[in-house]
Amino acid sequence: MDTQTVAELSGKFLMSTYKRAPVAFASGQGVRLTDMEGKTYLDFVAGIAVSILGHNHPELVSAIAQQASKVIHTSNLYLISEQAKLGQWLIEHSACDRAFFCNSGAEANETAIKLARKYGAQGGRFEIIVADRSFHGRTLAALAATAQPKYHKGFEPLPPGFVTVPWDDLAALESAITPSTCAIMLEPIQGEGGLRFPSPGYLEGVRRLCDQRGLVLILDEIQTGMGRTGRLFAYEQFGIEPDVVTLAKGLGGGVPIGAVLAKARIAEAFQPGDHGSTFGGNFLASTAALAVVTTIERERLPEHAARIGAYLIDRLRPLSRSHPVVTEVRGLGLMVAVELSIDAAQVVDACRERGLLVNAVQPTTLRLVPPLIITRGDVDEAVRILDAALAAVAQPAGVTRDS
Ligand SMILES: *Cc1c(COP(=O)(O)O)cnc(C)c1O
Repeated sequence: MDTQTVAELSGKFLMSTYKRAPVAFASGQGVRLTDMEGKTYLDFVAGIAVSILGHNHPELVSAIAQQASKVIHTSNLYLISEQAKLGQWLIEHSACDRAFFCNSGAEANETAIKLARKYGAQGGRFEIIVADRSFHGRTLAALAATAQPKYHKGFEPLPPGFVTVPWDDLAALESAITPSTCAIMLEPIQGEGGLRFPSPGYLEGVRRLCDQRGLVLILDEIQTGMGRTGRLFAYEQFGIEPDVVTLAKGLGGGVPIGAVLAKARIAEAFQPGDHGSTFGGNFLASTAALAVVTTIERERLPEHAARIGAYLIDRLRPLSRSHPVVTEVRGLGLMVAVELSIDAAQVVDACRERGLLVNAVQPTTLRLVPPLIITRGDVDEAVRILDAALAAVAQPAGVTRDS
């Protein structure tokens, strides 16, 4: 099969929910993907911050293969050894006491929302405060928590009980709290909203407010977690502990799995029968995630992400001198954005044509979230390609400029 055939089949048989680039990959190795025509790309998208070990990581591949030959799925009607071990690892490495497993980010956030409501129900509280430009997923409650009107259009009415406040504004957050508020739900660093970082003191202030007012602090670390920002969890960067944290994306290294971790007093609100998931934390997914977390620990990937991320940002910053369209480079660890004064989509295309995968999170924001295993050589190559792509976009082919 070739890319053209895949595009035709997709157009004919798949719902048109995605605006897809005209490329179909056939295999991957480390930080590189190869398409059906044999062209190789440096992957700084990593399946949207998912493939943290890169592609075809031997540890992950052999763990999945071995588990698949034993048993893939049994359901949560029974005990699952690998799920229990994964829960133990996550709890021993986080600020939380209990874990629940599901299959995606949206489902993890649905779970966190239900947990906060069940906990709050004891005091008649149900409202959850979220920040503008948040992204928490596409299921109806996660969508209601996603304060970006473009995602809501056509799907109303959404579940009530969500209140939006401006991001990074502590006073606005405090004045939105009512006797009905049960939780505050935030991404520690906004991802899809455009890689927006909190000001110093903001998250610490949110933590204080939650303590003072008896609110559950839910941190959505679906994108920021699992070492991406240079610590296992981004909340460690801010010296705070959440009451509930949601994970997905990098957790399974590409195998679908989501998780909710919670402090004991909140987790206790869930009683048998309150919540569940048929596939959640099954043998295959838990085994994959266990291979991912033990590799993160053994290879010290958060520390590596911190160092190589700083190097990436250092190498990207000079681009703003040679390319006036680059207005800012910002990032933490390997969660990096290049802000442009032009439409980012044309730069994404120009990079892809030259063998570099990046994507745009907002109209003018390029996002770089490569696998955590990248080397300085990979960074140098990516920056070289981005440099050439920016030059080509600023000066389209066929146009000559005298200087
Ligand atoms: C990707 C993402 C989600 C949604 O995850 P899905 O697996 O697509 O449902 C939720 N929150 C954040 C912060 C994300 O980046």
